[in-house]
Amino acid sequence: MIKVTIWNEYIHEKEYPNVGAIYPNGIHGCIKAFLETEEDMQIRTATLEMPEGGLSEEVLKDTDVLIWWGHCAHDKVSDEIAERVKKHVLCGMGFIGLHSAHLCKPLKLLLGTSMCLRWRHGDSEILKCTNPAHPIAEGLAEGFSLPKEEMYGEFFDIPKPDDVVFIGWFSSGEVFRSGCTWTRGRGKIFYFQPGHEEYPIYHDANIQKVIKNAVRWAKPVNRLDAPYECVKVGE
Ligand code: ZN
Repeated sequence: MIKVTIWNEYIHEKEYPNVGAIYPNGIHGCIKAFLETEEDMQIRTATLEMPEGGLSEEVLKDTDVLIWWGHCAHDKVSDEIAERVKKHVLCGMGFIGLHSAHLCKPLKLLLGTSMCLRWRHGDSEILKCTNPAHPIAEGLAEGFSLPKEEMYGEFFDIPKPDDVVFIGWFSSGEVFRSGCTWTRGRGKIFYFQPGHEEYPIYHDANIQKVIKNAVRWAKPVNRLDAPYECVKVGE
């Protein structure tokens, strides 16, 4: 069983009726619904309003892959929780950052750059697979489209990815490295750009397939109990 924790700041869905109509159970609820039908996955959700943001040491120890959606409340996540997430990723926990999670504290800590990009509301996107042999691309067509999506464009200030699995092309002519992977310590990290809250992106079958594949790809291999430390060897 792959133990998945879906973290969502869970604010826009309650604040804006148009977003709440797309995600009546929250973005985390939508992602949970399509992941929990997978026989090899066990799903838990966590939100900002929960004690410790729902990400206690106990929860993270029991999480193989953490999925993160956040936008307007990145600064409400405590530094302590962000450090805790980083520690678990270095030990081997997988991390999947979705859409505006490019600026979330744990991802910025893990990757070390500004993670800034260019953006504009109201566009359409075609996602092109640039690495069809990658496990995250399994079973997907070489391209698929999202009729409505917020534009995220280059330059995207990220460290050089291990793999770019998808490139997004927007009808305004912008392009973006939409699906990128890194490893940090023993942890696998995937950032996936689609998922603006005003559009039903997480109801899309291709997007759901990408996230399912990413969970399986990011699960820990030889996870450590504590981050790796220098080892003195015989004299
Ligand atoms: Zn957005």
